[in-house]
Amino acid sequence: MNRVKYVFFYLLETILRFLPLPQKTGLIKIGHPNKNSPVLVTGNYHLTVLKVLRALKGQNVFLLVANSRGINVWCAAAGGHFTFHDVISALKLSNIESLVDHREVILPQLAACGIEAKVIHQRTGWNVKWGPVHIKDFLAYLEIGQQKSIDMSIVRFPMQDRLEMSIAWASWMSAVFFFVLWIFKREAAVPAIFVVWLLTLFVFSAFPVYLPLLRPGVKKRLIFMVSFLFLALAGLGIFSLLTSHFTAHFLLFWGIISFITVLLLGGDIAGSTPFLISEFREEKGLQIEVDSKKCRGDGICMNACPLDCFILDKQKQLVIFERPEKCICCGACVVQCQFDALSYVDYKGHRVPPDFIRRHKVGFSGKWKPRY
Ligand code: SF4
Ligand code: SF4
Repeated sequence: MNRVKYVFFYLLETILRFLPLPQKTGLIKIGHPNKNSPVLVTGNYHLTVLKVLRALKGQNVFLLVANSRGINVWCAAAGGHFTFHDVISALKLSNIESLVDHREVILPQLAACGIEAKVIHQRTGWNVKWGPVHIKDFLAYLEIGQQKSIDMSIVRFPMQDRLEMSIAWASWMSAVFFFVLWIFKREAAVPAIFVVWLLTLFVFSAFPVYLPLLRPGVKKRLIFMVSFLFLALAGLGIFSLLTSHFTAHFLLFWGIISFITVLLLGGDIAGSTPFLISEFREEKGLQIEVDSKKCRGDGICMNACPLDCFILDKQKQLVIFERPEKCICCGACVVQCQFDALSYVDYKGHRVPPDFIRRHKVGFSGKWKPRY
């Protein structure tokens, strides 16, 4: 795909980011792969496949596009839309076994919260390796013998990702404001687009600045909404003074538009970022617990964790949950631990069995009062 076409799809699909955008599943040969070439799996979210193809240009790789229902890998795996069934189907239907001599398949690390490597191995004989979190690290991962540095295992939220998130939010919100205001207050329809985009870009670009305020346990929505509403009102006040629009009606009207924008963005600001537990999940009060009697110290959980929460005690051959404040309750470590040494404890002190998480994912498939 040429550059212009890529940029077109990149912008269009960033705008439509919250919609499933499926790509045809199946095997794609990148370059001229041979019997020893790596086999990589990704979900069938169209933009992901485009990014993977772009990142792997010039390599010789088999790419298996499995059915993630047109959703990006992390969201699909966490929500139970991308499971071991889909990976097994992709392996079997593609006939990849006849094309390579090895039995190692590389999956994106962020799929670890929903795809059990152990089951894939039991049912197909293929060993799952968790690749880097970001596809742009994939070449470096291959170069160092399919090994991951800590940096490749950690999720990041750089400016580009924050801008993408701003575009995704601002696009649909400004469209809604535009149509409603076009009907009821036509002269405000176009300025509303500017207000929504400015606020949204500001909210996501400034994220690292206010991240330390949104600690676990604090009322994130409240802090977020009060702070940004205050900033929006201050901005409106300065703008109205500079442009001689300083009237109660002006401030009230645009104050309401700003309030609704901040209200929508703040609905679950934590869930829109990779560093915070969604507030809907935080209410369950889940905490990781390590059973030191069951742990074998194989480090699988460390390899799956996108926030580097564990360290390995090499002498005792067990992991220590060293950085609990970083945990976003993604469930990857619990799902992958082959010895059930990790589990969640909920806000009542009840242990949530690992198999329950494997079946219902960490969101409990919407069950607020599950039986376990
Ligand atoms: S907790 Fe489980 S996955 Fe982690 S090192 Fe121990 S046995 Fe391995
Ligand atoms: S420790 Fe927390 S963030 Fe890390 S894999 Fe486990 S649940 Fe996810």
